[in-house]
Amino acid sequence: ETTERDSLLAPKDVAAWNKRTNAFTSYLPRESIQSLAENAPANTPLHGKTIAIKDNICTSHSELPTTCASNILKGHTSPYPATVVSLLEESGAVIHAKTNMDEFGMGSHSIYSARGPTVNHVDGVEYSAGGSSGGSAVAVRDGMCYAALGTDTGGSVRLPAAYTGIVGFKPTYGLLSRWGVIPYANSLDTVGIMTKKVEDARKVFDVLNVHDPKDPTSLPPTARKPIRSEKKKTWTVGVPAEFNPEELSEPVRKAWASAIDALRSQGHTIKEVSIPAVQQAISAYYILAPAEASSNLAKFDGIRYGRRADQDSANGTLYANTKEEGWGEEVKRRVLLGTFTLSSEAIDNFFIQAQKIRRMVQDDFDKVFATKNPSRATEQGVEDGVDVLITPSSMTTAPLLSEVKKQKRLDAYVNDVLTVPASLAGLPACSVPYGKDESGMPIGLQVMGQFGEDHTVLEMAKILE
Ligand code: GLN
Repeated sequence: ETTERDSLLAPKDVAAWNKRTNAFTSYLPRESIQSLAENAPANTPLHGKTIAIKDNICTSHSELPTTCASNILKGHTSPYPATVVSLLEESGAVIHAKTNMDEFGMGSHSIYSARGPTVNHVDGVEYSAGGSSGGSAVAVRDGMCYAALGTDTGGSVRLPAAYTGIVGFKPTYGLLSRWGVIPYANSLDTVGIMTKKVEDARKVFDVLNVHDPKDPTSLPPTARKPIRSEKKKTWTVGVPAEFNPEELSEPVRKAWASAIDALRSQGHTIKEVSIPAVQQAISAYYILAPAEASSNLAKFDGIRYGRRADQDSANGTLYANTKEEGWGEEVKRRVLLGTFTLSSEAIDNFFIQAQKIRRMVQDDFDKVFATKNPSRATEQGVEDGVDVLITPSSMTTAPLLSEVKKQKRLDAYVNDVLTVPASLAGLPACSVPYGKDESGMPIGLQVMGQFGEDHTVLEMAKILE
């Protein structure tokens, strides 16, 4: 257990650690951390706790630029902090570092970063940190902060949490403010919380779980569920067949089965369920997310933010030059893909179909949960429905970094097959470590709940932990 003071002063040599892991894109010197901690508001729930922030969430401290790990925002310092950052500071937390990521959140291994890949070291071997919030995951696992914020659009908090053996919680869409969070795909983007223990994730969640009038998608107070006053003793746990594809690795499948056995022997009711539309979820996600990205990223044109390329005024190519120099390959690929699927020839066959699948995924989830989905007025909860669903978070334990660098792009997309369904439906989902494989690599299980059942999900995650 690290004490508050240990974690505050980061017992290890931060520079040497960061050279090895490349997990921080920037961080404050020890003296600044100390003085921020001394001046933190007294009697606050996160007093003096260090929290690292993914580099796509705005911080206004001059030594903590916000770059989305992209050259297009190199050195960019936001004039204002994100609402989630202000809330943490008001609650006594010390924001001391920004974390490495896949550029603009696009990726699953934190290797598509203009700052170079994040490295997940385990026993002298270099593994994938998962992505896109890989820097946040490694920082939490290595004790460089009490907690870290990530963002989760299709799994970017849960996958790195599973690969590094920590807790990664993606709350219900719309609960945590996105004001000051640079959008990737705004109908899916969610701020997520990464910690070693579920209880700490809950503490941070409770601080951030407030309505923000500045974010039009922030749920108003009337749409937020009160925390259940009495705790359930036994639960109905759903096990969805579609989350057991052939490709699921054996150690992960075994861990999942043993968790289900353990829950059964503790008196919980286990129910096999089916959510058929999730089989199309990944295809729909990789249409919708790039489509939204192509629109969101249009503003990085060299005029308003960050870096500006030399203008070839004769040809009027300022925008093109800026994007050509400023974006990495994966970002360009997604923007082109999104521009295509939104074009008049393609929109009916791609974007519209994907939206339909998204609705089917939502419907299928609503058909298994005991409680009704408050975001969809017509649906009722299901009699004999389940309280939570438990699945694996990832198909395998963390792959070797050398392997993922050789992978084809589409292989990385397939990684998100277990996490994307909850994203499409906006549901709360938490990856919690559950045992290890034979070589000692951690395995993550995913708890999902009905829209707004965030505390239910965290309670079940605690039972598994
Ligand atoms: N790996 C997924 C993608 O590349 C998810 C990313 C995320 O959740 N930000 O889009």
